[in-house]
Parts: sequence; structure tokens; C-alpha cells
Amino acid sequence: MLILRLNKSGMPQTWISQEEAAKCYVQEKVVFELGQSTVELRGGWNREGKQSKLCLSSIIACDGKITQDSGKIALSNRYLFRRDNNMCLYCGDTFSPAQLTRDHIVPRSRGGKNTWSNSATACKRCNHAKAARTPEEAHMKLLAVPFAPNIYERFFLMNRRILSDQMAFLSAHFSKKRDWLS
Ligand SMILES: [Zn+2]
Repeated sequence: MLILRLNKSGMPQTWISQEEAAKCYVQEKVVFELGQSTVELRGGWNREGKQSKLCLSSIIACDGKITQDSGKIALSNRYLFRRDNNMCLYCGDTFSPAQLTRDHIVPRSRGGKNTWSNSATACKRCNHAKAARTPEEAHMKLLAVPFAPNIYERFFLMNRRILSDQMAFLSAHFSKKRDWLS
């Protein structure tokens, strides 16, 4: 289980291990806790024969800067397919990642960019049928609006094993419910 580290204003900063979270507690960097779930870590024994315990919340807000880039993810098929729930945005069927492809809505050969908003998850069959055409030219309608994930959505994409309270926190800040095109 990973712990979601926020900054003092409650913005997600990074997913950290339980060991890293324990360090934040010991260094008294934890400003507040938001998680509903907790993990108990056991530490060393003191002279009275008592073992030290540390209770970690699944979401902690911490003081201090982090060194690594926070919330930056590159557009990859893995994240794209997860954004679209492994669903082909043309036929609406769900596939395993191995059967999916990245479709550039405006084809690259026509000047389309390799960006989140120009990328759609497509099954091999639909991608092949669409070929180097726009959806309009191919008479293939997109079922949903492709969007660039906001910071909360990026943290959702980054971690495949999100606890329900972490999910509730992140999804409350999702940019929008998926826009379905009828
Ligand atoms: Zn399809």
C-alpha cells in the first residue's frame, strides 16, 4: 500500500512508501491526516521491553519540499488506456491492454499532435478502420471527449492499487465526470 503525500494546502505531491511516510512522522513533518485507513508499523523495543508503534494514515499532508517531480506523467499507452478504462472510444467495447492502441484523433500525418486531448484509446479493428482519417471523414464518432488529466487524475493514473479513501479524495477533484458524446 502506498501513502498519498499532500502538501500543506492539500494538493497531492507524491505517492510514498510506508517507510518514507514513517520518516515524515518521526521528523514531525505531518501537518494533518486525511485518510480513513491506517497502517500500524512496529519499530524497536525500548528498555522496558515495549515495542514502539507508529500509526500511518493513508493520506498525509506534510511540511517541507519533496525532491522528485510531483505529478508529472508523460502520455503513455498505459496511462491513456487507464484514462479510458480500457474502452475503445469508437466502438465502446472493453479490451485488454494488449488489444488496444493509441489513436491520434487528427492523424499525425495530418499535423495532429501527440497530446492527451488528441489521443483516444482504440481497439485494433477500429484504429485500422479509421486509418489516416479524422473521425468525421471516417464516419466514426468518438464516444467520449479525450481530456488532459488534472493533477488529481494524474495521481489516480499513477497508482494501480489505490485504497477506497484515497480514491474518494482524488475523485472529488476530478475535472469532470466523463463527457459522453451522444
Ligand atoms: Zn473499437
